[in-house]
Amino acid sequence: MQISVKTSQRTQMIDITSQVRRAVEESKIQNGLVHVCSMHTTGAITINENADPAVEIDILNTINKVIPWDDHFKHMEGNSAAHIKVSLFGPSELIPLENGSLVLGTWQGIFFCEFDGPRTRRVNVKILADS
Ligand code: ZN
Repeated sequence: MQISVKTSQRTQMIDITSQVRRAVEESKIQNGLVHVCSMHTTGAITINENADPAVEIDILNTINKVIPWDDHFKHMEGNSAAHIKVSLFGPSELIPLENGSLVLGTWQGIFFCEFDGPRTRRVNVKILADS
């Protein structure tokens, strides 16, 4: 199944944990692994703290400093910074599913990371059920 994510900034982290939980509930699968995968080359998936929004700001400020938007890149589309960030963050995460619940730590949330927004994005959620 797929989740739609609407972003509003060029670089942004959006907490999609509740949307992933809803997708898992709809599947009725209780145990297995949940694969959450961005379907884009300029949007990533990461797991990090979703309690203090300052964490997202610090992550984005740091990644933007390390990989500036314009750094004499060769890619004609002009968004190489976004492609590089996705390769560093990774396009997907794999989360254990136990008794119908995602196994995440108290402070952990699943984020879609927009690196070339604003856009409407698609995230694929695939559940691999225990046999
Ligand atoms: Zn590109």
